[in-house]
Amino acid sequence: MNPLETIIALSYLMAAALFILGIKYMSSPATARRGNLLAAIGMFVAIVVTLLDRQVISYTWILIGIVIGSLIGAVAARKVQMTGMPQMVGIFNGFGGGASALVAVAEFMRLSGAQAVMPMDLSLAVLLSIIIGGVTFTGSLIAFGKLQGFVSGAPIQFPLQNIVNAAVLIGATVLSIYIVAFSPSMAAFIIVIALSLLYGILFVIPIGGADMPVVISLLNSFSGLAACATGFVVGNNILIIAGSLVGSAGFILTQIMCKAMNRSLRHVLFSAFGTGDMAAGSLQAAGDKTARSIDAEEAAMIMGYAHSAVIVPGYGMAAAQAQHAVRELADQLAARGVDVKFAIHPVAGRMPGHMNVLLAEAQVPYNLLFDMDDINPEFPHTDVVLVVGANDVINPAARHDKASPIYGMPILDVDKARHIIIIKRSLNVGFAGVDNELFYHPKTTMYFGNAKEKLQELVAEVKKL
Ligand code: NDP
Repeated sequence: MNPLETIIALSYLMAAALFILGIKYMSSPATARRGNLLAAIGMFVAIVVTLLDRQVISYTWILIGIVIGSLIGAVAARKVQMTGMPQMVGIFNGFGGGASALVAVAEFMRLSGAQAVMPMDLSLAVLLSIIIGGVTFTGSLIAFGKLQGFVSGAPIQFPLQNIVNAAVLIGATVLSIYIVAFSPSMAAFIIVIALSLLYGILFVIPIGGADMPVVISLLNSFSGLAACATGFVVGNNILIIAGSLVGSAGFILTQIMCKAMNRSLRHVLFSAFGTGDMAAGSLQAAGDKTARSIDAEEAAMIMGYAHSAVIVPGYGMAAAQAQHAVRELADQLAARGVDVKFAIHPVAGRMPGHMNVLLAEAQVPYNLLFDMDDINPEFPHTDVVLVVGANDVINPAARHDKASPIYGMPILDVDKARHIIIIKRSLNVGFAGVDNELFYHPKTTMYFGNAKEKLQELVAEVKKL
């Protein structure tokens, strides 16, 4: 190794270490910003070293790409609302998969022109990159479309769907084996690309829009695997390492989400659960049961004179952007001597860590945030629980109703507290589309309305006490 090669190898090693440290720090909200910064520095080092290492013929297109990509990334990061984050991550995964596939296409065209027989390991890596990258690209576009409302959130099904899907995947695999083992035929290669792109669409359309965050996490894992395969194609170690990290982190996250929803990955992928149009849930759910409602003044009396209060945020807090109002309420209550804590369910909201991110944005101290397992034993000793736009994650049916789609999902045991106040606009269902018996419980009072406005009214009343 000459000195330059040594510097390059050491820089790659440093970048890899920064990625791993970054992921480690991201596991806690208290250190997540530092983790993000370390990973970004690692990526910067990796890009600079790669540009110096490779025999770049012209930097013009690279610079154009960097400028366009950075502009899109910066605008998206500032403009996209927190509630739109899952689809933004989704489309970025898609671009990652597409980029990996494009690099592999370029390499295939270069090599197939240069030699009749490609080395087997190289052609295998090229085809893996094409298939995984192609599936990630179109699959992510459909997932984005479903979440953004461009494509119907309802599962799209047709006769013999599983057989058609299997035939497309088997077709791409058989042709790939032919290319790797016998001939780098351009016609076969183009068909593999087309089948991979088609499979991405077929794979995602039967999945309900409501399950898209899990699919996006899985596609995130795929984009990492595609990048890893591309790393083998172009012989770049840092791409192999970064791709493996993304691939495994995405897969672990997918597993965590499935576990927190008490569903298997197979069930998510093949059961056509949830339409993604849950806002259309109905008031009929109430049937002949009655829910008691209160106003801001009463809610302020209950909360302001409590010894202990637990705030449970859910999707409604994100939708109403009520995190700052929540923080203000917590501050007011704490100033009155109320012991205030936040209970965080692992799948509250619409993406992993959704509540943590929003509460961190509102600068709620991390030591007030408690995970489900830590806070559940405390509910029986809690005076009042304030639920802000959460529904499924507090539904006791998950514990006892075997017929419920959420049966078995671990929940926050808020029904064990002395009093429960629930802020939401109506008795409508949440993500899973099921009624919530807690709304009609004698200990529960509903404080109806948009979360942000209702919290602001509540804060004003607490200040008057
Ligand atoms: P839910 O979706 O169960 O309920 C949210 C509630 O918020 C709705 O019932 C709605 O009631 C209310 N709401 C909506 N907008 C507002 C508003 N502006 N002001 C006040 N309330 C509002 O949310 P949870 O957080 O309890 O549960 C999350 C669900 O999402 C779980 O079923 C989970 O499995 C699922 N999920 C989570 C993922 C994750 O990674 N976090 C990924 C995929 C799925 P109303 O219309 O009456 O106001």
